[in-house]
Amino acid sequence: MTTAVLVLNCGSSSLKFAVIDPENGSRMVTGLAERVGTPDVAATIKFVGTDGALGAASALKLGAENDHRGVLAAVLEVIESWAQEHSVDLVAVGHRIVHGGEAFAASVILDDTAMAAVRACIPLAPLHNPANIAGVEAAQHVLPDVPHVGVFDTAFHQTMPSYAYRYAVPTEWANEYGVRRYGFHGTSHRYVAARAAQELGRNADPGLRLITAHLGNGSSLAAVRGGRSLDTSMGLTPLEGLVMGTRSGDVDPGVLGYIHDRTGADVSAITDDLNKRSGLLGLSGISNDMRTLDEAADSGDQKAQLAIEVFAYRLAKYIASLTVPLEGLDAVVFTGGIGENSRTVRIATLGHLTHLGLRLDPHANQRCVGGVGGQITVATDEPGTPVALVVPTDEELVIARDAAALTR
Ligand code: ADP
Repeated sequence: MTTAVLVLNCGSSSLKFAVIDPENGSRMVTGLAERVGTPDVAATIKFVGTDGALGAASALKLGAENDHRGVLAAVLEVIESWAQEHSVDLVAVGHRIVHGGEAFAASVILDDTAMAAVRACIPLAPLHNPANIAGVEAAQHVLPDVPHVGVFDTAFHQTMPSYAYRYAVPTEWANEYGVRRYGFHGTSHRYVAARAAQELGRNADPGLRLITAHLGNGSSLAAVRGGRSLDTSMGLTPLEGLVMGTRSGDVDPGVLGYIHDRTGADVSAITDDLNKRSGLLGLSGISNDMRTLDEAADSGDQKAQLAIEVFAYRLAKYIASLTVPLEGLDAVVFTGGIGENSRTVRIATLGHLTHLGLRLDPHANQRCVGGVGGQITVATDEPGTPVALVVPTDEELVIARDAAALTR
C-alpha cells in the first residue's frame, strides 16, 4: 500500500486538487474544476502513468449538482476507485485556507472548534474563507472517515513581533476589528526558506537571514531568520506591499478620498480598481502577465518597460527595507511564476541592490527558468557577502506533508 494525501484548494469558483505522496512529493493525480457553482462548470483530471509522469488531461464527468459539494463528490468518486485499483491509501485531506487571523500559527486538524475559528475569520477574508470553508464541508461530507487538516496562508507570519505587525491607527481599530498586518503566501515562504537553507548547507543555523520573494500574480516578501518570519510585505489584506499583476501594492491611503472626491466612486469601487485594474495591468495598459510585458518591452513598448521598472524598483526597495528586521542579509530567494522564470525582473531588481554586495551572474540567471533553480549571483571569497537564489516553490507539497504529519 502506498500512502497519499489529497490536497484541495477551493476558490470561489474553482477547485484545484492533487493526490500527493508526502514523502517524495510525487503527484499521482491532479486536476482542476472551473466555473464551480455555474451551469458551465467543467473539470479536468490527469493520472500518473507507469513512467511516473502525469498523463494528458481528460474531461471529468460531473453530476447534476454544480456547487463545491457536487463537484467534489464526482472528483472523489473517480479518485477513490483509482486509489483502490492502485493500492493507494488516502490517509488525510489537506485544505489550503487563506486567512487564519490570530487563531492559527500552524496547521491543524479541522475539528468543530477549529472550523468555528475559521468561520470567525470570514470578515478578514470575505472572498476567500467562505470558498475554503465550502471546500472543507464538502470534503468532510464525502470523506468523513479521514482527518481533514487546514494549512493557512497567514500562519507562518504569526511570529512577527508587534512592532512589525501593528499599524499606527486608532487602537480600537486593532482591538475591536483586528486591523493589523497578517501577511500571506506563508506556505510558500516557509517552503522556499527551508529549501534555500538546505541548498546553502545551513538548515540548522538559527541565525540564517533570508529574504524570500514570492512573485506570482500576487507577490510578497518575507524576512525569515532561522526559519521564522520576522516581517512581510502584505498586510491586513493581500493589497499591501509590492506591485502585483493587477494589485497596486502600497499607495498613499489618501488616494481613496481623492478619487472619491474627483469621481464620486465609493470605497468598494475604488478598492476594486486597486485590486483588479492596477499593478502591472494598470501601469502597462496591456496585461497583468509578466511574459506578455517582457515580450512587449523587448519590442520597444515604453509602457510595458515602465511597468517592469516600477515592479523591480519597488521590489528592490522592499528587499533593502527587510534587511532591517534581519540586521543583515545572507540570501535573497526568488520564487513564484515571475521569480522562477523572469530573467528580466531578476536583472532589473538585483541591478538596484549592488550596494548590498549582490552581483548577478548572467549565465546562471539565464539557466534558472522552468523549474531549474540555483544560485544566480557571482561567487565571491569575501565572507558575509549575500547571494541570490532561485528556488521553485511547492505549496501543495507543504500541505500534503503537514496533513500527513498531523495525521500520524
Ligand atoms: P499565481 O500567483 O496565480 O500562482 P504564478 O506563480 O503562476 O501565479 O505566476 C504567474 C506569473 O508568472 C505571471 O505574471 C506570468 O507571466 C509569470 N511567468 C510565468 N512564466 C514566465 C516566464 N517564462 N517569463 C516571465 N514571466 C513568467
